[in-house]
Amino acid sequence: MIVGVPTETVPGERRVALVPELIPKLTKAGLEVVVQFGAGAAAGLSDPSYREKGARLEADIFDKADVFLTVQPPTTGEIGRMKEGSTLIGLLQPHTNGAGIKALAARKVTAFSMELMPRITRAQPMDALSAMSTISGYKAVLIAASRLPKFFPLLMTAAGTMTPARVFIIGAGVAGLQAIGTAKRLGAVVEAYDTRPAVKEQVESLGVRFIELGMETKDAQDKGGYATAQSEEFYTQQQRMMFKYVTTADVVVTTALVPGQRAPVLITEEMVRGMRPGSVIVDLASEQGGNCALTEPGQEVVRHGVAIVGLANLPSTVPIHASQMYARTVTNFLMHLLQDGRIHLDLNDELTRGPLVTHEGKVLHEAVKVTL
Ligand code: NAD
Repeated sequence: MIVGVPTETVPGERRVALVPELIPKLTKAGLEVVVQFGAGAAAGLSDPSYREKGARLEADIFDKADVFLTVQPPTTGEIGRMKEGSTLIGLLQPHTNGAGIKALAARKVTAFSMELMPRITRAQPMDALSAMSTISGYKAVLIAASRLPKFFPLLMTAAGTMTPARVFIIGAGVAGLQAIGTAKRLGAVVEAYDTRPAVKEQVESLGVRFIELGMETKDAQDKGGYATAQSEEFYTQQQRMMFKYVTTADVVVTTALVPGQRAPVLITEEMVRGMRPGSVIVDLASEQGGNCALTEPGQEVVRHGVAIVGLANLPSTVPIHASQMYARTVTNFLMHLLQDGRIHLDLNDELTRGPLVTHEGKVLHEAVKVTL
C-alpha cells in the first residue's frame, strides 16, 4: 500500500502532514511512502531528508497513492485524480467544506477528518485539534507581546521600574491554558475565565487567578468535556461582568468556542472603547466568527486605538513543530487503522467511526450530513 504526502497548496499553509522521522514507522508496517517534491520545504524539511528516511520523491502523488495524508482538504481537482476506493486522512473542515466532502463521496474515497476525532483518552495520541490549539495559544501570546507598546515583565532598571503587563485570557481549554503558561513565562500578570467550572483548578495550578463572575455555570460542560451553548441573556450578563477585567487589561486573548456553533461574542465595541489605547486583543475564535464584535477574520485591525488580531491558521506560523505534532497524530491514526499492512475498517470502533466522513460513495457522519 502506498502512502502519499502532497505539497500543500492553500496560500499561507506551511505545514506538511508527514515528517521524515516518522517514515520508518510506516515502512516497518509494510507501507511504501511517496512524497511530492517540495512537500516539506515550507517547514524546513528538504526532499533529501525524506529520501534518507526511505521515501520516494515524485512530482505528482495524487494518481499514485492508496492512502493520502494531508493538512488541508484536497481541492476538487486533486480529488478527481485520486484512485477510487483510496483513503484520505486530513483536516477536512467538514462543516464548511461541503463541495469537497461531496466530491470525496462521489470519488468513493474513504475520508477521515482529524477534527472529528472523539475526545476520549484512547484517542489522545491522535488528537490533532489539541496539538494545533497548543500552538495557537502559544503563538497568540507572542503576537500580543510583539504588538503591545509595553514590556510583559516587571522590569526594575536604573531608568525606572516598569510595571508588568496585565493579560486576561477568556476560555481556558487547550489553547487558553497554553496562552496562560506562555504569558506567565513572559512575566505578565495573568487572569483567566472559563464557563466550565472544572477549569478553575487547572488555571490555579498554573499560579494564575481564576476570575469568578458569580454566574450560574453548573451545566456549562457536556459529557465530552466541551462547553455547552449558553443563552443570549447569559452572554449579555457575561459581557457586563467581564467589563472591568477586559478594560483594565493590556492584552486580552480570547479562545472561547462552543463546538458546532458560532463563537460567542464576549467583547463588545463598548468594551473595546473602554480599553487603553495601545492594548491588544488576539481573537483565536476568529475563524468561528470571533469572540470580539470588532474582529475581522483573517485580519489585524486597529479600532478605538486597540489592535485586534484575528489572524487565521496560527499553527502554520510555527511550521516545524506544528508539522511534527500533526504528523504524529495522523501517523498514530493510520497505524490504528492498519492490519497486516492494509487498512481495516472496524465500523464498530468509535475511534475509527468518529472521524469517518465518507465511505463507499456515502457521507456517513451524521453531523456532517446535517450541515450538508
Ligand atoms: P474548545 O476549543 O471547544 O473551547 C475553548 C474553551 O472555551 C473551552 O475551555 C470552553 O469551556 C471555553 N468557553 C466556551 N464558551 C465560553 C464562554 N462564554 N466564556 C468563557 N469560556 C468559554 O475546547 P478545547 O480547548 O478543545 O477542549 C475543552 C476541554 O475538552 C479540555 O479542556 C479538556 O477538558 C477536554 N479535552 C479532552 C481531550 C481528551 O480526553 N482526548 C482532548 C482535548 C480536550
